[in-house]
Amino acid sequence: MIEILTEEEFELMKESGKILQEVFKACRDQIKPGMSTHDVDKIAYDIIRGHDAIPSFLNFGTPPFPGTICASVNEEVVHGIPKKSRILKDGDIISVDVGAILNGYQSDACRTYCVGDVAPEVRDLVKRTEESFFKGLEFAKPGCRTGDIGHAVQEYCESFGYGVVRELTGHGIGTEMHEDPDVPNYGKPGHGYKLKKGMAICIEPMITLGERYIEMLGDQWTISTVDGKPAAHYENTILITENGPYMTTYDYEEGF
Ligand code: MG
Repeated sequence: MIEILTEEEFELMKESGKILQEVFKACRDQIKPGMSTHDVDKIAYDIIRGHDAIPSFLNFGTPPFPGTICASVNEEVVHGIPKKSRILKDGDIISVDVGAILNGYQSDACRTYCVGDVAPEVRDLVKRTEESFFKGLEFAKPGCRTGDIGHAVQEYCESFGYGVVRELTGHGIGTEMHEDPDVPNYGKPGHGYKLKKGMAICIEPMITLGERYIEMLGDQWTISTVDGKPAAHYENTILITENGPYMTTYDYEEGF
């Protein structure tokens, strides 16, 4: 299903997105070595519930996902399960992927944080993954195609020799978390679905320091790189307006 949203619905999407901005700022200020991934999950849960919103990942899917956030550390690409036993160490990276529903409208976004003193090549991976999102964002406007976005992300990341995960993609969003169209992080210019005013999409590069291949772990959720090299992830919910993209989950004042 591709949903075309009204101006009023766009305003509701913005309200939902602001909650995730708050989650990301709290994570930025509080994540440090010695914390568990469960502690990070609790930060997000408390903020989302404090706004009377619903954590959209909690109990999602089969088996039901047991967290408010996906906490994916180092070689984990996405869908890591928050745990009291998983303690963050100096030099780790953690991606915090989180969703909220407010007044029936969804937001979905991710940041990857460096914990303490991270190796320069891994820090660069995190920074360039975020930069690749913004390369794709340039094409998140009416008349452009999903292939234009994917191509921009892929070209930027592969120029550094990084792997671009293909099995997982960005997506449409609105009253459901995952709607059509798929928004891959690879593609050909001029190909794919043509974007229209009123759509909302998530662009979410998942980028690896080594090869692009991934595997699911035995918990049926966590997805890891096959070669064990680190991966980074960055995502925002984006409204397609006639004036171009508007990110609901991004704080334009702070640039975060
Ligand atoms: Mg998403």
